[in-house]
Amino acid sequence: MDYPAANVVQIAHEIRTKAVSAVDVARAALDRADALNPKLNALTQTFHEQALQRAREIDHAISQGQSPGPLAGVPIAIKDNICTTLGRTTCASRYLENYRSPFNAFVVDRLIASGANIIAKTNLDEFAMGGSGEHSCFGPTRNPWDLSRVPGGSSSGSAAAVSAGIVPAALGSDTGGSIRQPAALVGLTGLKPTYGRVSRYGLVAFASSLDQIGPMARDAESCAMLLSAIAGFDPRDSTCAQTPDEDFIELARTSHPMPLRIGIAREGRSDANHPAVSEALDNTVRTLTSLGIECVDVSLPHAGLGVAAYYVIAPAEASSNLARFDGVRYGRRAKLAPGEGLLDLYEKSRSEGFGPEVQRRIMLGTYALSSGYYDAYYNTALKVRRLIKQDYDAAFAQGCAAILMPTAPTPAFPIGQKSGDPLALYLEDIYTVGVNLAGLPAISFQAGLSEDSGVKLPVGMQLVGPALGEAQLLRLVGLFQSASSWHALTPRL
Ligand code: GLN
Repeated sequence: MDYPAANVVQIAHEIRTKAVSAVDVARAALDRADALNPKLNALTQTFHEQALQRAREIDHAISQGQSPGPLAGVPIAIKDNICTTLGRTTCASRYLENYRSPFNAFVVDRLIASGANIIAKTNLDEFAMGGSGEHSCFGPTRNPWDLSRVPGGSSSGSAAAVSAGIVPAALGSDTGGSIRQPAALVGLTGLKPTYGRVSRYGLVAFASSLDQIGPMARDAESCAMLLSAIAGFDPRDSTCAQTPDEDFIELARTSHPMPLRIGIAREGRSDANHPAVSEALDNTVRTLTSLGIECVDVSLPHAGLGVAAYYVIAPAEASSNLARFDGVRYGRRAKLAPGEGLLDLYEKSRSEGFGPEVQRRIMLGTYALSSGYYDAYYNTALKVRRLIKQDYDAAFAQGCAAILMPTAPTPAFPIGQKSGDPLALYLEDIYTVGVNLAGLPAISFQAGLSEDSGVKLPVGMQLVGPALGEAQLLRLVGLFQSASSWHALTPRL
């Protein structure tokens, strides 16, 4: 087995059939992490001893003829805003630098129950606020395709770790694009599930009405396998849908007969797109058509308002969620000078603990929610949110199984190019935030390559589905990947 290139299904199969041991696979992952992480800064922690011990237990269970679970021995990395009792859960924030969670997130317990081997936690924009991986207290993550460029964000480390072949899959979280956009910028498949499909229990909240956890891997099949493990009802998340546990590999194989119709969003064909993005969009339509899929134009007239609405709603919710970091309960506690009181404790702990982007979001959100401005900003944004949702409903009502558009307007950009200009970074989210506002599932997949002065960079497209339409999305991308080989390209490291 060629470990760095193998997918989740192959690795699990080979371990289960004893073609390779879980220990050898864990070693391969950890060795690759040791060799590449100094360049990439993708991982905040690796769990050498624990991962090898777990691999030994899995090998032992297999040798005893016990069923080790569908993901037995597969090395997985977890975004560091998802709680694990293993190691720390830092959110890449000074505030939580030394925080140890006393419990596992629902998804982590599920992965462990499926036999997965958690080998590392991954770097991110602080509290998942960002789209470039540059806003981390541990420093920026680098793109394996070109180390001078960003891997996208906020699930920057998960993206870089999978793209570099350290792990075959990782978990990310997506509030406004943080699974899909980094997946696009490093050439992976990334799935943002329907809001409520995956429990948020143990995900450190950014914007609770938008956050979802999802898989990032090389191909749709691997994402399907991870989604099967992490999706399901959890009474501890009151917004969790009452869906049964499902096998998404099987469902993707059997769901909805052909012929299928896909809508091509007119708003995704913007002059502002990088030429390689426009070209990949045309090529994707051609490939889908050659597969017998009917492609029709659709319009999402309010899509252009998405960024404005998102950057009111997400910071509003963030300002409320982050109020819990007060220097009293957990995380950083500032040292007070004699005579300083409780307000100083709040102010100092938060000023020292939060980075500039997080502080900016808290201020934006607090402002939008303040009396006098609430109607003008927050309420108006909620109305726009409804209109965006209605656009999607109308497109699906025309018989479209999914809607295609680019994941991001440009390929990966140089580190530092946009970090001083928050608005420029926010505009990178133009194609992703609407999906979160509407609560829909969407999958990003590599669909092209941009070649500029010798630098090759992946380009991603996304398919957006109706609520709970993950199986169909996985099926469509699976079909695309059986007819093309973009997903098999790997960076030269
Ligand atoms: N880039 C978006 C933001 O900065 C999305 C972040 C996310 O999905 N976590 O808010």
